[in-house]
Amino acid sequence: MAQNSGRNRPSGGRRTTRQAAYGRTGRRSSPRRTTAPRSSSSARRRKKRRKQGTQLLLAYLLRAASILLILLLLWFVVKGIAGIFHPKDAETETVTEETETVTETEPETPEETEPDNRIFSNGRYIDPSRPMVALTYDDGPEPKVGNVIMDSLLEVDGRCTFFMVGNTVARSEESKAEVKRMAEEGFEVANHSYAHKYYNKLSSQEVIDDVLKCNQAIKDVCGVEPTVFRLPGGIMTDAVRNSVKMPIISWSIDTLDWKTREAAATINAVLGEDVHVQDGDIILMHELYVSTGEASKVIIQTLTNLGFQLVTVSELIQYRSGGLIEPGKQYGHFYLSDLPPEMLQAPAEGESAESTPEETFPTDGAVPESTEESSAESLPAESTASL
Ligand SMILES: [Zn+2]
Repeated sequence: MAQNSGRNRPSGGRRTTRQAAYGRTGRRSSPRRTTAPRSSSSARRRKKRRKQGTQLLLAYLLRAASILLILLLLWFVVKGIAGIFHPKDAETETVTEETETVTETEPETPEETEPDNRIFSNGRYIDPSRPMVALTYDDGPEPKVGNVIMDSLLEVDGRCTFFMVGNTVARSEESKAEVKRMAEEGFEVANHSYAHKYYNKLSSQEVIDDVLKCNQAIKDVCGVEPTVFRLPGGIMTDAVRNSVKMPIISWSIDTLDWKTREAAATINAVLGEDVHVQDGDIILMHELYVSTGEASKVIIQTLTNLGFQLVTVSELIQYRSGGLIEPGKQYGHFYLSDLPPEMLQAPAEGESAESTPEETFPTDGAVPESTEESSAESLPAESTASL
């Protein structure tokens, strides 16, 4: 098709070629010029071409120079920006270094200061090689006191054990919320019977049922089943010994807070000059009294400042008895000196394991009629003896 159309307009095609040949000059062909010598015309054309070539070369050179200039400018800009930001980077590095230095010197990063001894337990670290005591609170839950105690303990990474009465854990929304909080925040929920009946007046089966009923009531509220038990009234019998399938926990320091109901007296019962709290002690208080909550604030802070870790009873069992406990047996403390020699590890520096405090037979303070004499008669020797 293209060839045919070319043939159909031969003259036009020739004319077009000629015009193109001369048209580039922008001038009209004249007869004179057509007759001019060929050499002169081609010389002019060569000259023009040279001129055009020179112009093109110049244009290329200009373009190259422009590109070089732009590149140079870019280089300066980049260098300038780097120069501007470099000092900031240096500052950031310095700040980071300073922050790191500060972090390293802060004592509250226990992983760095004592990496070998510390164990993560109930939401915080404890060091079994350092002294520890267990604060225990009976007869709750009592939200207006228990929450104060928990708040104070959390400030020092401490925990405690709440021995609760089963039929009170769900008596109000506040009670339930408090028991849930205990479980969620690493405090120990423990069994103090279902209705605070004296177990020496119950049959073996009634004891078994009562313990299970309390465990279930607590579990229903917070999802955690207690693993330690404290007798209401502290009165031990053979039926109790054979029926309770949990370790029975008494105490080594009785604050008598139920009796005095005075914060100062409760504080003095733990921190007084004649009292020597030691590693492995179990301290008895009651959750029912506002004065106990107030006293606890001071006791918690002071014991912590003295170097004691505040732990749950189960933690004390784990780190001071090696877990060697028997169901139905009553324990009033967990001293390292109670351990068989082969289990005894070298106590940490500053640990006071040299003497056991004067033993007093525990009485359950929540029950005023439970006199010291009656408790003393009913408690077996093992309650204050070794593990
Ligand atoms: Zn009680």
